[in-house]
Amino acid sequence: MAEQKTALVTGALGGIGSAIAARLTADGFRVAQHDVVERVADDYFRADLTEVGAGEQLVAEVIARFGRLDVLVNNAGAQKVSPIAEFARADWDLVRSLSLDAAFECIKAAVPGMVSRGWGRIINIASAHGLVASPFKSAYVAAKHGLVGLTKSVALEVAEAGVTANAICPGYVRTPLVEKQIEDQMQVHGLSRDAVIRDVMLASQPTRRFVEAEEVAGLAAYLASDAARSITGTTIAIDGGWTAR
Ligand code: NAD
Repeated sequence: MAEQKTALVTGALGGIGSAIAARLTADGFRVAQHDVVERVADDYFRADLTEVGAGEQLVAEVIARFGRLDVLVNNAGAQKVSPIAEFARADWDLVRSLSLDAAFECIKAAVPGMVSRGWGRIINIASAHGLVASPFKSAYVAAKHGLVGLTKSVALEVAEAGVTANAICPGYVRTPLVEKQIEDQMQVHGLSRDAVIRDVMLASQPTRRFVEAEEVAGLAAYLASDAARSITGTTIAIDGGWTAR
């Protein structure tokens, strides 16, 4: 029997990350779960990925404990909503460091082992905001567009070695991150909760329903499979038709 493949999911205690970790576990991967809170478990790794060097150290710890890393899912992320003229530099740094700098570090540390074994999967959870923009989300849109660019560049570098790199671009998925945004959007737009959900959030999502975290996890699992070996350097939208406009 082939040796069990190992996956790392960053932000694995969050809405989308937990669904991806559960799905990859069900599909037979040994899953290293990462998040920022303290927790003691054999398969759990704590790191604040806004800190310089934390991503590289995280991957090194996973490889030290699990022996290998075959699937890297860069999922940790955060959102800050503000008009550009009032956008705090600290919020810009937080969003960029978590969505882009940490992914760079984790990929950098994971690639050598993947290339040496001739098999690897890099799955970056970007966003519809990696493809199109919305107002008041300058940091997030910039970071996610950057993540898409990083994905493409890495894919070209490692393609011949049997390693793929892709970006998943979800529309609105009902998670704690989105719950928080409903509150923020109510402030920025001066609208009620129901109006934000209907007229701001799902206005751009033609299906008029939130994407489920399990749907994103299913796509990540497909990209992690052997069947997806020719899919690389691309973005896959799972956004209810948002970016078709
Ligand atoms: P979430 O808030 O439920 O999960 C994010 C995770 O990142 C949390 O577990 C959190 O603890 C972790 N995290 C936060 N700060 C951290 C730090 N400093 N260091 C390490 N980890 C940290 O959000 P989610 O909706 O599950 O988002 C997961 C990913 O999906 C994010 O990259 C997000 O941008 C992306 N995304 C979400 C949606 C959506 O509608 N929910 C849409 C498109 C893309």
